[in-house]
Amino acid sequence: MTNPANPPNVPARGGPGLPQVRRLVTEIPGPRSRALAARRSAAVARGVGETLPVYVHAAGGGVVVDVDGNSLIDFGSGIAVVSVGNAADGVVEAVREQVGRFTHTCFMITPYEGYVAVCEALNRLTPGDHDKRTALFNSGAEAVENAVKIARSATGRSAIVVFEHAYHGRTNLTLAMTAKSTPYKAGFGPFAPEVYRVPLAYPYRWPTGREHCGEQAAARVIELVRDEIGAGEVAAMVIEPILGEGGFIVPGRGFLPRLAEFCADAGILFVADEIQTGFARTGQMFACEDEGVVPDLITTAKGIAGGMPLAAVTGRAEIMDAPQVGGLGGTYGGNPAACAAALAAIGFIESADLPARARGIGELALPRLRALA
Ligand SMILES: *Cc1c(COP(=O)(O)O)cnc(C)c1O
Repeated sequence: MTNPANPPNVPARGGPGLPQVRRLVTEIPGPRSRALAARRSAAVARGVGETLPVYVHAAGGGVVVDVDGNSLIDFGSGIAVVSVGNAADGVVEAVREQVGRFTHTCFMITPYEGYVAVCEALNRLTPGDHDKRTALFNSGAEAVENAVKIARSATGRSAIVVFEHAYHGRTNLTLAMTAKSTPYKAGFGPFAPEVYRVPLAYPYRWPTGREHCGEQAAARVIELVRDEIGAGEVAAMVIEPILGEGGFIVPGRGFLPRLAEFCADAGILFVADEIQTGFARTGQMFACEDEGVVPDLITTAKGIAGGMPLAAVTGRAEIMDAPQVGGLGGTYGGNPAACAAALAAIGFIESADLPARARGIGELALPRLRALA
């Protein structure tokens, strides 16, 4: 199917040069979006949900322009992905340059520099100054799966501890780790075994109030791990430093450091799933820096590559190097175009100091949101 002729107001291309305006020229969704929605119903599986039924034609800066020429503010941001913009100049140029040379060789077959450079950048940027290694994958769920594989290989243990309200992805193992039944899990079981769910320090709902939530919840988790799961059985504790799906939940203060300390004592690997919180979304490069927590393994994806599919597991060298040669990888993991995009996106996040910008937005927005609450 070729592109339909552009209606008036629809730009030929995207990028930050698009007028940064909200401008409606038809009803929402417009006639072209409605026609595409009809084709979608006849062609796309129903299980793939949708939030806003306007079909995008071009995007740039903070707007999306739909196929009817409406310009909308992009609050969706590619589901917490496009921190550097939804068609950032540097990212687009880097991808163009890369695909002009080659699109794919498979890093496990014929390697290339971009993959190595992304691993170097992640080793440098993630918390802790210990010796690190990184492996690249395609999606967040794939990164979480591989963090579990690596943790089991390194510890020789099988149990995985996860938390209430957690989201870790939609593959079978990560569905076992994700908390919410509908829409994610209903009808899709049985799920992978040896995944144990424990309480989260959820200040708003903690029975004795928010003040001692962090320490009390940590004590409860430690008790459950010791008495019911068996600390010696546990390979890893996997947690989002700020939860992003069962509500945006900032765990009570002290919870993460206490758990990290317990894990270190018990030989359990502390895994931070920073797929949503990573790359300057919370005022630091990574959210666990807020309480000075240094995870053994950290998973990243979403914001890493300006919208190109890329994910990673980064961690202590001796843990990352535990799996046998050939035990990690995949056909597309660390695809060269995605790596080029990541290097451009990471370069922009650092040079524009986006963590400071996130703090500024927080200072502006939080008092107003608290007043509304
Ligand atoms: C989005 C997300 C995932 C899954 O990433 P996909 O790329 O959708 O597979 C895993 N963990 C967290 C915390 C996420 O936000």
